[in-house]
Amino acid sequence: MEQSTMNNSDIPAIEGGTPVRETKIFYGHQYIDEADVEAVVEVLRYGDLTCGPKIKELEDKLCRLTGAKYAVVCSNGTAALHISALAAGVGEGDEVITTPITFAASANCALYCGAKPVFADIDPETYNIDPQKVEEAITERTKAVVVVDYTGQSVALDPIRKICREHNLVLIEDGAHVIGTKYRGQANGSISDMTTFSFHPVKTVTGGEGGAVLTNDETLYQKLLLYRAHGITRNTDLMVHEPDGPWYYEQVDLGYNYRMTDIQAALIISQLDKLPMFSKRRKEIVERYNEAFAKLPSLFVQREIPESDTTRHLYILRIVPEKLRIDRRQFFDALAAENVCCNVHYIPTYYFPYYEKLGYRRGLCPNAEKLYEEIISLPLYYAMTDEDVESVIEAVTKIAVYYAKE
Ligand SMILES: *Cc1c(COP(=O)(O)O)cnc(C)c1O
Repeated sequence: MEQSTMNNSDIPAIEGGTPVRETKIFYGHQYIDEADVEAVVEVLRYGDLTCGPKIKELEDKLCRLTGAKYAVVCSNGTAALHISALAAGVGEGDEVITTPITFAASANCALYCGAKPVFADIDPETYNIDPQKVEEAITERTKAVVVVDYTGQSVALDPIRKICREHNLVLIEDGAHVIGTKYRGQANGSISDMTTFSFHPVKTVTGGEGGAVLTNDETLYQKLLLYRAHGITRNTDLMVHEPDGPWYYEQVDLGYNYRMTDIQAALIISQLDKLPMFSKRRKEIVERYNEAFAKLPSLFVQREIPESDTTRHLYILRIVPEKLRIDRRQFFDALAAENVCCNVHYIPTYYFPYYEKLGYRRGLCPNAEKLYEEIISLPLYYAMTDEDVESVIEAVTKIAVYYAKE
């Protein structure tokens, strides 16, 4: 590949190489307080470890938070996407439209069902899927659209929903980044046919692992419950045969064991109490970053749509290569030399060898490919101190100014 090797930065040290920070800072970290610890310990002491009351409590809490009618919690965000695709009826021969700028699970959920992911390009300024590109990608085989609220900014849901309605497509919102965000004043989670959440530790709210699907549709809800637990039901309305007795249940479809434990649920319930606080702090940090980076001509600040009141999960620093003497890799290495340890989200999904093997080739989504060449995910998490934030800004500014083209 064109990128240089993993180690050995070839960029010269700046000003004798004294880093702006003495200690390393990373791009994301969970925040666990005593209340979280207590909540987990209480389940361990007195609770059911799985299939207990914490599951329902968390599902009710997610419904209250988002305004969705139904919530189904499950083992992780990927499982949430899988059961959503199954509930949408995605199967062999179908196509599912999604963005390449996401974690691989957004497209993998189509493959799990025997369907084909079709990649639609992003808007070059908001970085979310472009509704017009979605419309252009529709064929008779299209069954569903999986949109991703990349970085936590809501996708333009109104135009996407209109397209899905007109073409009879199921809209699945991969909301792994979106918890806490509102679109036109309504919480994401209550708008699309199904919205999935992830509670992985880098996400805004964590359960160690964990996921959820939110929906307003009772039929989808019943299907999600089935697919979460082996396709097994104890609901006599769904049974084919007469029950043999009180122990009786039936497997009526092929499902999975995607259950969440009560230990995870208790942690997530406790974490959700802190969401307003998490959200407020993330917004403050994003504002500081935006303000500082808007002044630097060699950096591009992600465009925000006015409809989205965003709780940002990721902060994307984007370089303008024409205005710098270094590329993204060198900028990334220079930040690491300042003890600012970043990441990159995301490698376009179809770049992966598994997707190449399926026949996907580079060139499919030019805006996504260009974005990938120019981005770095900066540290963004609740527990960052003001000093942390200022040191990240100082490091970015130092590098951007030093390597600016005249
Ligand atoms: C984290 C993430 C997932 C997967 O969630 P897991 O809980 O790790 O399975 C899916 N999509 C996106 C966009 C994510 O960021």
